[in-house]
Amino acid sequence: MRAFVTGAAGFIGSHLCEHLLACGDDVVGVDAMTDYYDPSRKRRNLAHLLGRERFTFRRGDVLALPLDELLADAEVVYHLAGQPGVRASWGRQFALYLDRNVQATQCVLESARGARLYRLVYASSSSVYGDAEAYPTAETLCPRPVSPYGVTKLAAEQLCELYRTCFGVPTVSLRLFSVYGPRQRPDMAFARLIRAAFTGEPFPLHGDGEQTRDFTYVRDVVTAMRQAALGPWTGVANVGGGQRVTMNQVIAEVSELAAPVRVLGTPVQDGDVRHTAADISLARQAFGYRPSVGISEGLAAMVLAEREERWATEVAELAAHAAVPG
Ligand code: NAD
Repeated sequence: MRAFVTGAAGFIGSHLCEHLLACGDDVVGVDAMTDYYDPSRKRRNLAHLLGRERFTFRRGDVLALPLDELLADAEVVYHLAGQPGVRASWGRQFALYLDRNVQATQCVLESARGARLYRLVYASSSSVYGDAEAYPTAETLCPRPVSPYGVTKLAAEQLCELYRTCFGVPTVSLRLFSVYGPRQRPDMAFARLIRAAFTGEPFPLHGDGEQTRDFTYVRDVVTAMRQAALGPWTGVANVGGGQRVTMNQVIAEVSELAAPVRVLGTPVQDGDVRHTAADISLARQAFGYRPSVGISEGLAAMVLAEREERWATEVAELAAHAAVPG
């Protein structure tokens, strides 16, 4: 398959590109390298990809790139570019969320209308549900986001549905539930928690820690994306990890795997939901989705990756020190 990936330098996008290449696909990745978090992390994410045969990277904003031209050769588009983060989406920052989540998606869909795509896979979010009325939550439940971020993800998802029904653009929107794994965005809970375990700095825990999440390992997510791209089905489906875990359980696991975490109790943040849990039966039926990585295995992989990165940084610093004359 010839794949076009937006947000290729991001956390999930870089894993997706690796997975597609491993499956034998040709990949064109684009990314604006936004500064939502330190862009040097995105350059490191890309280091896993640049120079690989069958991978091409183009730096640029989806809103400014010549998408008609870029999509002319593509068979599948994976649209992951966006402005993530629930808490930062309040206030004046909302304009960025509108641009990068809503406008950018409409731009991709307009170009997709004229392209001969087999599939367009959009990275939607569990945040469209807000505080859901039932758990595990099925796609049939009415979405009621409780954050501006969730509102923009829902708007973009609705645009995908609109272009699918009006113009036949073959879209699949996957509502991803709390994705984790190596290279996770530094603002996300697991990345902050593991950092706290290694540095000894306190971990600010919002609320009582009994909030539950359906955490999904990044390898399962990128596998689901490609399965959805190749299958015959279009529409909106949940992609969750299949397991509900409290933050207190996660803190205990990380303390065991890395070092005891010092927890600092803080109030619940606006926009945070109390629970999430995905009903994944539709994804199972539609494209054979089956999550394969449980929380203990996934956390162990994340802790190992963090340990290796810290060692590599220490070794590089020691080498640089030793190289200084005198
Ligand atoms: P990320 O910030 O690491 O990746 C997003 C990438 O998109 C960034 O590298 C950014 O530079 C790029 N980007 C933003 N606007 C752009 C634009 N206009 N043009 C080109 N590039 C642009 O975030 P992530 O966690 O990898 O999330 C990827 C996608 O998945 C996002 O759309 C996010 O909303 C969605 N999602 C993520 C999660 C999660 O748990 N991480 C859950 C649900 C949905």
